[in-house]
Amino acid sequence: MAASGIVGAGFGAGASSAGVQISCGSGSRGLVMIGSGREERQLAQNRAGLIGGGGLQGLKGRQLVLRGRESEHGRRCRVVPQALLQWNRRPELVGEIPRVVVITSGKGGVGKTTTTANLGMCLARLNFKVVAIDADVGLRNLDLLLGLENRVNYTAMEVLNGECRLDQALIRDKRWTNFELLCINKPRYKMPLGFGGKALTWLVDALKKRPEGQPHFILIDCPAGIDAGFITAITPAKEAILVTTPDITSLRDADRVTGLLECDGIKDIKMVVNRVRSDMIKGEDMMSVLDVQEMLGLPLLGVVPEDSEVIKSTNRGYPLVLKNPPTLAGLALEQMAWRLVEKDSMKAILIEEAPQKRSLFPFMGGKN
Ligand code: ADP
Ligand code: MG
Repeated sequence: MAASGIVGAGFGAGASSAGVQISCGSGSRGLVMIGSGREERQLAQNRAGLIGGGGLQGLKGRQLVLRGRESEHGRRCRVVPQALLQWNRRPELVGEIPRVVVITSGKGGVGKTTTTANLGMCLARLNFKVVAIDADVGLRNLDLLLGLENRVNYTAMEVLNGECRLDQALIRDKRWTNFELLCINKPRYKMPLGFGGKALTWLVDALKKRPEGQPHFILIDCPAGIDAGFITAITPAKEAILVTTPDITSLRDADRVTGLLECDGIKDIKMVVNRVRSDMIKGEDMMSVLDVQEMLGLPLLGVVPEDSEVIKSTNRGYPLVLKNPPTLAGLALEQMAWRLVEKDSMKAILIEEAPQKRSLFPFMGGKN
């Protein structure tokens, strides 16, 4: 199973990530991974390690430049995110295809559509066939985020009414042709009467039976709330990605949604913590990822920092993961795609420098 990598500022990410490499100045040092328990967290907070206490300086070339406590001594640390180290391999797809995944949250505006668009593009770039279904009928905007809004001629409603074929309603992305979008209805239309879980399941089954082969992933962008639209969106799903932000309203909704998903038989639920700000966590003005994980008790698929690039990419209709050079949030989303493929999860951990061994006799080769 692939190890998770490091991406983040103010929150570490990575499990048994042997591939993570870190160097301070010219020499290399090891990392101490701190677990997700309360004690470890305290320890991490006290020691305010490399990422826990440090701040992101930015991306330099393909390296994340982070400043840790060491900066007091005028040193900078570079972290090579594992996503970049993994470029020489492809993730191994785990589970039966098609993997039907609903992206949900309860609360609106937490990043479901952003996650769907970026995960979808990433998976397509990793050579998987992806169909994203915009099940947020009333407030449809996945097409906008993907820059495909002018190409929506037919929707699932016309397919269901027998007015067009399914492949006519599937909008193929020109950047990654193995990515297709399916909208349920024309913009500004309400959830059509009679459209429910059964109809969506019929569409998913029709996607499985396509002559050109079934997709590897069917991603369903769920509407906010827990009413009919939500029930419809989760009906055909076998797994769920629960997007939350580190604030109490979003967490309460996420908790409620988790219960509903479980009642519906969806046991494979992973969470994404979006819009995390390391400066606010440090100032104890925002819950840490560890707090969120303790509250929801779900495996973590990824952590995405607050990044103005996300908003820019939304407005441009160009998913962030396609941006070159990569951005911090883009890398976090890319790593999430890897974990999704491999059914992997990450620990909400902080990373700090390995404590240095003090030698009584430094001149005999011990470290200071
Ligand atoms: P939802 O689908 O849950 O309603 P969206 O994905 O549409 O949420 O996101 C709502 C807004 O938040 C969008 O304007 C988007 O650009 C912004 N946003 C989402 N994630 C981030 C992030 N990590 N950093 C900054 N802005 C974000
Ligand atoms: Mg949305």
